Amino acid sequence: MDILVVGSVAFDSVETPFGKAEEVLGGSATYFSTSASFFSDVALVAVVGDDFPEEHKKMLEARNIDIRGLQTVPGGKTFRWKGRYEYDLNQAHTLDTQLNVFSDFNPTIPEDYRDIPYVFLANIDPELQMEVLEQVKNPKLVACDTMNFWIEGKPEALKKIFGKTELVIINDSEAREFAGNANLVKAAAKILACGPKTLIVKQGEYGALMFSGSSVFSAPAYPLEDIFDPTGAGDCFAGGVMGYLAKTGDTSEANIRRAIIVGSVMASFNVEAFSLNRLKALTVEEISLRYGEFRQLTHFEDL
Ligand code: AMP
Repeated sequence: MDILVVGSVAFDSVETPFGKAEEVLGGSATYFSTSASFFSDVALVAVVGDDFPEEHKKMLEARNIDIRGLQTVPGGKTFRWKGRYEYDLNQAHTLDTQLNVFSDFNPTIPEDYRDIPYVFLANIDPELQMEVLEQVKNPKLVACDTMNFWIEGKPEALKKIFGKTELVIINDSEAREFAGNANLVKAAAKILACGPKTLIVKQGEYGALMFSGSSVFSAPAYPLEDIFDPTGAGDCFAGGVMGYLAKTGDTSEANIRRAIIVGSVMASFNVEAFSLNRLKALTVEEISLRYGEFRQLTHFEDL
C-alpha cells in the first residue's frame, strides 16, 4: 500500500448555476482516494453510518481502494454537507454541515496501515488529524488539507498540524483566513513559518501556486467550457499530487511541480460532472492526453 488517507466520506447536496444533486456520494477522503487510485494503491480510513449504501463501497473497491479502515457505525448517520455555488464557482457557500458519525469518531489506523509511506490528512477535524499522526510510523511524506470550518473552529489545533506536515495543500481563501493576511505571498510565508516545507495554494479556476523556501511555481487551471460542479476539485487535486508522488517515490521540488500538473488534470476532469461521476468513467489515456494539453497551455519561447 502506498498512500493512507483519513478524511470524510459523505452525502453531499449541492446546487450550482448548472444544476443540483441531492445526497450524492462525496467527502474529502472519497474524492481524494478515487483520484489517487489512478496512480497508486490507497488505503482509506473514515467512518459512515449504516445508511451508507453497499453500492458506494463497491465503487471504491472497484478502484482497488482498500476500505478495511472504513468503519460503519450501527444505527449511525453518515456525515452530510450541503453547499451552494454562484456564478463565481471559486467560492463554496456551506449551507449545512451535519457531522453525525464524525462527532464520536476516533480514527483507528489498522496495524498493517501504520507504516504506509505517504499519508494524506484530508479535510476533517484537526484533532482527528493529530490522532492519525500519533499512530503512523516514520512516513516518508505527510500532507494535509483543511477548510474554513476548522480554521474558524479550531485554529490552534490546525497550527499544530501544519507544524507536523511537510506539505500543506489549501485554497487561497483558507490561506488568507488562516494567516489573517489578504496578501497571498505574505500569507504563504506565515503558513510556512508554522513548519511545512512546501505550501500549495489552490486557486480554483485560476490554478495553483506552490511556495517552497524562496521558490514559487505557478500552474494554470485547464480552461474548460463545461463546468458543472466544483465540489471535490481540491481533493481530486490533492489525490493527483499524492498519487503521482507516491508512484514515482520522488519528493524533489521538480517532481512536486509535475505532481501539481497531474493534480490539476484530475481536478479539471472532476468538475465536468456532479459527484464522482466523471472520475468513474475516466481513463488513463484521457489523463495523459490532458497532461500534454497542460504543457501546451504554458509553453512559450525565449525572447
Ligand atoms: P472540496 O470541494 O475539494 O474542498 O471538498 C468538498 C468535500 O468536502 C465535500 O464532498 C464535503 O463532503 C466535504 N466536506 C465539507 N465540509 C467538511 C468538513 N467540515 N469536514 C470534512 N469534510 C467536509
